[in-house]
Amino acid sequence: MIIRKSKAEIERMRRAGIIAGLVIGRLAQSARPGVTTGELDALARDLLAAEGAVAAFKGYRGFPAHICSSVNDQVVHGLPGKRRLQEGDILSLDLGVLVQGYCGDVALTVAVGEVGGSVWELLRVTRRALYCGIEAAQPGRHLSDVSNAIQVQADAAGLGVVRNYVGHGIGRTVHEDPQIPNYGPPGKGPILKPGMTLAIEPMFNLGGDETKALGDGWTVVTADGKPSAHFEHTVLVGENGPEILTLLAEDIVLPSIH
Ligand code: MG
Repeated sequence: MIIRKSKAEIERMRRAGIIAGLVIGRLAQSARPGVTTGELDALARDLLAAEGAVAAFKGYRGFPAHICSSVNDQVVHGLPGKRRLQEGDILSLDLGVLVQGYCGDVALTVAVGEVGGSVWELLRVTRRALYCGIEAAQPGRHLSDVSNAIQVQADAAGLGVVRNYVGHGIGRTVHEDPQIPNYGPPGKGPILKPGMTLAIEPMFNLGGDETKALGDGWTVVTADGKPSAHFEHTVLVGENGPEILTLLAEDIVLPSIH
């Protein structure tokens, strides 16, 4: 069942979203060569505490950290730790925030120093696909219009679409109905209605679609070892169109979506 939020609930989700955007912006700015993913995790913990928020992922199905940090061929759910970021890496940061009983979920992939042109293009197209998906999240349209808008971008660029992990509804818990695949035909599934809150999150690979889980029980990597990118916003389906709840600080350097 897709839970539509009341005005009061939406206000709380806006608050969670603002904090999520603020914190992930600071993490992105701190992702430089020589920094460990564990240090970024500790920074997230401290920044969330300063805002009176907690990490929605910590303890979720036993997840041990505050953020997911996925480097290069790691797709999602990477465990922060001793890994030191190097010039030319890409780092996906994924953050769930819980404050006053409501969640925000946001992810982005940043280049650590300079990256190659094809990798930058992977980031650019994945970020662009997120915004295409958001634009499709209009009241009265079908849920799979979002999925299709995302897939079209990957297909046009010859990128792989991760199929094993999908976007989702969000609210009191970080994962609610519906599931939102990043692929599929348009015009299917539920009709989008005002008050629905969706975490839209394309995950694209420079190679094929296939992924596999590592032995740590969490980290998902591409089967072919090629890099993977991930961008996510929490979005409200508003009366007049989509509203991004997890706005980002404007001074993060991210690839253009144009
Ligand atoms: Mg999510």
